[in-house]
Amino acid sequence: MTATGGRDTRPEMALRRALHRLGLRYRVHRPVPGAPRRSVDIAFGPAKVAVLVHGCYWHGCPDHARPSATNPGYWGPKIAANKARDADTERLLRAAGWLVLPVWEHEDPDAAASRIAAAVRARRASARER
Ligand SMILES: [Zn+2]
Repeated sequence: MTATGGRDTRPEMALRRALHRLGLRYRVHRPVPGAPRRSVDIAFGPAKVAVLVHGCYWHGCPDHARPSATNPGYWGPKIAANKARDADTERLLRAAGWLVLPVWEHEDPDAAASRIAAAVRARRASARER
């Protein structure tokens, strides 16, 4: 997550529990290669699958983020900066060979966990073939 979103947020914990129920094991808050002050919320090491959990408001979710009516001059640029940093984090991870799966706060944790589990299984299968 980010400095603004904090660690171990509620949507992140719900997703971690759902992944655990599917029998998946992972590391949390793994440093981003090339940006050690940022971290991957949920990382599947050998498969190189990185899950980034984004809060709808702070990360500018296309469905839920709304410009602040009270103070757009402050909040707009802050959210834009978060989005730019998210994009940069994804770029760094992809450059290091990771598959990046962003998950929005509003997504159903079980549905997101199923999507992640399928990606992890596919990456493990292709690693075995090499
Ligand atoms: Zn949302």
